[in-house]
Amino acid sequence: MALHKTERDRFADVYAAPLSRQPLPRFRMPQWSSDPREVYELVSSELALDGDAAQNLATFCTTWSEPEVHRLMNENIDKNMIDKDEYPRTAEIESRCVHILAHLWHAPHDHSAVGCSTTGSSEAAMLGGLALKRRWRERRIKAGLPADRPNLVCGPVQVCWEKFARYFDVELRQVPLEEGATGLRPHQLREHVDENTIGVVAILGVTFTCAYEPVAEIAAELDAVERDTGLDVPIHVDAASGGFVAPFVQPDLVWDFRLSRVASINASGHKYGLAPLGVGWIVWREPSCLPDELVFQVDYLGGSMPTFALNFSRPGSEVIAQYYTMLRLGRDGYRAVQQVCLDTAAYLADELAATGRFTLVHDGRGAVPGVSYTLADPAEPFSLYDLSDTLRMRGWQVPTYPLPAARDRTVVQRALIRHGVSRDRVSLLVADLRWALSRLTTGPASPARRTGFHH
Ligand SMILES: *Cc1c(COP(=O)(O)O)cnc(C)c1O
Repeated sequence: MALHKTERDRFADVYAAPLSRQPLPRFRMPQWSSDPREVYELVSSELALDGDAAQNLATFCTTWSEPEVHRLMNENIDKNMIDKDEYPRTAEIESRCVHILAHLWHAPHDHSAVGCSTTGSSEAAMLGGLALKRRWRERRIKAGLPADRPNLVCGPVQVCWEKFARYFDVELRQVPLEEGATGLRPHQLREHVDENTIGVVAILGVTFTCAYEPVAEIAAELDAVERDTGLDVPIHVDAASGGFVAPFVQPDLVWDFRLSRVASINASGHKYGLAPLGVGWIVWREPSCLPDELVFQVDYLGGSMPTFALNFSRPGSEVIAQYYTMLRLGRDGYRAVQQVCLDTAAYLADELAATGRFTLVHDGRGAVPGVSYTLADPAEPFSLYDLSDTLRMRGWQVPTYPLPAARDRTVVQRALIRHGVSRDRVSLLVADLRWALSRLTTGPASPARRTGFHH
């Protein structure tokens, strides 16, 4: 059937219109233009099949935003983050966010902190890693030593650090997880750190378990290494999720620039920073932590704005939305939101424990709001993968994966609780989890049992 529009088609119902009478184009751009209402409806209807974000407990990322965020982003859809001359207010808002974060993370001189927004923690990790590499290289060259075999030491890192290592020719020394550990343990460092180590990455919120690595103890161990060997190894804290959690609900935990060994910190604005997708942050302790050659000066408003980024053009609206969330919630608001998430995570952990079927790896307390667990009995007639599949039948996305760098390839399941995942939702998950366990143990109910029919 030809899909040429006729006068009469203009008044057709969306689902009687030409575009909806066949599958949407997959390989070729259509020749003709279509009515915006039709296209919107059809694309939107296809995307509805992506599922319900609030049932997706696999992601750390923001899935709920206030209407004002939508409005601000809509109004600023045309703002390019890189055009600091053209959009000086957007640039100023980025700079305010950097200073607010520097203060939140206890930078020694927060009014002159250096940092920038990024597309997420992955880009921020690239920038942090590049700064470490450059500083190490400068030190080596100044001392007349070879600078061709850099390495980076870390525990079970998110894939962005593996990318950094491969893209920028750095050896990634991923320290194997010890049995029962949820992340890097300080005593493991000595064996892996040497004169070619550009830095150690400590993670505030290990992606795979939700636990925090003990940054202060890692710093203390590196202090001891320096005393014993003279090696001065800086720390970069990957606080992708914890950077917006710990300052509000674990304020006494010392993990940030209060530790002099911490050179830089990244966080994802679009995770527990509560901004919509597309914004991350990196802050350096002081200007000397960011080598000059990596920074390109962009002049605007008579001043000079240092830029350090992998992208050039990038939307400014995410950064504006981040500033909105900071002003809107304030410290009290962030604390309230994160505390409710933590309480819900603890509730889920207790419910999981109460089934008697799981061993908690992280119990939802004292770190990122989420739980991770293994099967208590390895002889269960099903695996955690089966449990994920069965929960999926009820719409829930609860991922199962092997712990990376674990010597025994432990398989864990993880559920994240974030802004917009209510206690009610999680109580429904618990009910479905019990249903799934019984289904996996005794098989699906027969039709007769399902309808309660008796002979
Ligand atoms: C999510 C995550 C990243 C990557 O962050 P994006 O913002 O998704 O690029 C890096 N590190 C850790 C620990 C993470 O949890």
